[in-house]
Amino acid sequence: MWSKANNMKNLLLGLALILFVLSCETKPDTSSTETKIVAPKEKVGYALAIHGGAGFQTRESIDKETDKAVRVALNEALDAAEAILKNGGAAGDAVVAAIEILENNPEFNAGKGAVFTHDETNELDASFMDGSTMDAGAVGGVSVIKNPIKAARAVMENSPHVMLVGRGAEAFAKEQNIELVDASYFRVEDRLKSLKRAKENENEKMSKHGTVGCVAMDKSGNLAAGTSTGGMTNKRWNRIGDSPIIGAGTYANNNTCAVSSTGHGEFFIRYTVAHDISALMEYKELSLEEAANHVIQDKLKKVGGNGGVICVDKDGNISTPYNTPGMYRGYVTDKSRGVAIYKDEKW
Ligand code: ASP
Repeated sequence: MWSKANNMKNLLLGLALILFVLSCETKPDTSSTETKIVAPKEKVGYALAIHGGAGFQTRESIDKETDKAVRVALNEALDAAEAILKNGGAAGDAVVAAIEILENNPEFNAGKGAVFTHDETNELDASFMDGSTMDAGAVGGVSVIKNPIKAARAVMENSPHVMLVGRGAEAFAKEQNIELVDASYFRVEDRLKSLKRAKENENEKMSKHGTVGCVAMDKSGNLAAGTSTGGMTNKRWNRIGDSPIIGAGTYANNNTCAVSSTGHGEFFIRYTVAHDISALMEYKELSLEEAANHVIQDKLKKVGGNGGVICVDKDGNISTPYNTPGMYRGYVTDKSRGVAIYKDEKW
């Protein structure tokens, strides 16, 4: 009798322990989180989010002109993308339209405004993914393609490959009639100054931000994601970051979500950040908010991976967690819209 009761007690204790371990595993740490969830109750017709990079954006570090210029640019990108979604256009078209505008604006570290390598060159990376087909395209280390996001999409649509780099990517872009520019087009004085500062002070390199990205859900419920960057200031030549890597910098799957990343690329590659968020939704049935927060605020933060993501799920929920002081960001749905830079902003 005694041993039966004891066995039962042990069994119950064992079960409690298993339940405890399981709950620890599935419950993400959502403390110290900054996120934006749009339309949790009302179903939205379309939803789109953009970022212009995560980094050390604080009210003290951003001057008034930059603050204003960034908000104007984010709104321009939202306008262009929304015009497409409102008229029933495809998520992929909206993503490329928004990113093209941000690439053409020197405020951002993508296209014109790309940061410099250690050798004072500009090497750009970009990727694009269509969540309805799971097709993807990317370019890495390109120096003469005006809008790398267009080349990334062309790799997806018009080649049998997913990623082309360097001269091969540039030759392909030329064949596709994608606009090429002289490498000097990307030479922006302010970025050169950042490189000089980075060479003098190692901490400077992480103060750079401005990678751009966009995720969208269109009226048909299709998802798409894209990311474009100059990489990290003072990087070695031919260094490739996470932005052109499908699953790290960009991911889209109609069954789960679309994600675009920004931050310290080496961490985003090793932790396959964009795909991890989708996988947590698919395999563990986490919500978008839980999955994105878990990866950014828990997994990445623990190992010192600075950055953030913008995500939209298949129901049009938007989540934008980051673990840096700030992130240039914006969103639009058929119900509401906002842009923000700092952590304490209501948007
Ligand atoms: N993720 C980019 C890279 O590592 C940089 C950034 O987002 O700021 O190339």
